[in-house]
Amino acid sequence: MSKFNPILRYMKNPSSRKLAINAKCAECFGCTPDHLEKGFKESISSCSSYSCLLHGFRPYQREKSLEGQKMPVQNL
Ligand code: SF4
Repeated sequence: MSKFNPILRYMKNPSSRKLAINAKCAECFGCTPDHLEKGFKESISSCSSYSCLLHGFRPYQREKSLEGQKMPVQNL
């Protein structure tokens, strides 16, 4: 589990800003160093705390933004 736990990943590399943000967002949705909350990635992806200073930097945004997008097929 530690391999995919954002908090443990940050603890192994505390100089990384990206890992720090990932860890903070995971913690925000109930994750701890020894527990991953079910669905935490989706929760972060759909986080609606727009006033949070980390909102624009939170992980897992791409999965959400691509959801439901279907590109029209065009004849070129
Ligand atoms: S962006 Fe959302 S999930 Fe991340 S720290 Fe802020 S409120 Fe929590």
